[in-house]
Amino acid sequence: MRKPIIAGNWKMNKTMAETKAMIAELAPMVEGAECDVVLCVPYTDIATAKKAARGTAIKIGAENVHWAEKGAFTGEVSAQMLKELKVDYVIIGHSERRQYFGETDQTVNMRTQAALAAKLKPIVCVGETEQERESGKTEEVLYRQLTEGLKGFKSKDFDKIVVAYEPVWAIGTGKTATANDANETIAYIRSVLNKKFRGVGEKVRIQYGGSMNTKNCKELMAMPEIDGGLIGGASLKAQDFSQIVNYNK
Ligand code: PEP
Repeated sequence: MRKPIIAGNWKMNKTMAETKAMIAELAPMVEGAECDVVLCVPYTDIATAKKAARGTAIKIGAENVHWAEKGAFTGEVSAQMLKELKVDYVIIGHSERRQYFGETDQTVNMRTQAALAAKLKPIVCVGETEQERESGKTEEVLYRQLTEGLKGFKSKDFDKIVVAYEPVWAIGTGKTATANDANETIAYIRSVLNKKFRGVGEKVRIQYGGSMNTKNCKELMAMPEIDGGLIGGASLKAQDFSQIVNYNK
């Protein structure tokens, strides 16, 4: 059985004071959750978030990581630096990184390697743009992102790697893939991974992301292929995020 994982992606939101307040409000609401609960927060909030989440069900993640151990990479943060802060998860290859910061399948690959080497759990994002979807290229794009982005990894790495299927046209737009479409596409992702990495199809956790909210989470999470959600906007309020975490209650 794959344990569901609901992860928030705060993006460039929340001060340290806001982080402390939100986690204090959220913690009792997600106590006893049956899924893994993760908040991926800006680098500047990590130490505060870790402290606030101590002794709760909430795990803390980062939103990116560099592939090098150290060196002349102004503005970047290494996997060891995140490990020192006792970060558990890290988002890699989010579509905003791909769109605005030149992230490629190759850099996704290098960042994922670095994260695994530091024993962080990578949440690797894949997904097609609206244009790619309309021109019937969804599977081609996903195939490339998965095979290039995860080239060279071993089946056992997928005990740690989580994949997030995030159709770009659904992120922050209020448009959601239908539960059936998301389920079908995630089944495709599972089949690609299963062909490339022996036995991975059954065990890899694959989230859906893209305008998942309190209203649609139940239907999406009821789908057999969907193992969780990566939540942007709806992860910024404790009430909303906790309702998603407790989708089955
Ligand atoms: C995201 O940023 O990963 C995301 C899914 O955002 P939203 O939930 O706001 O669409």
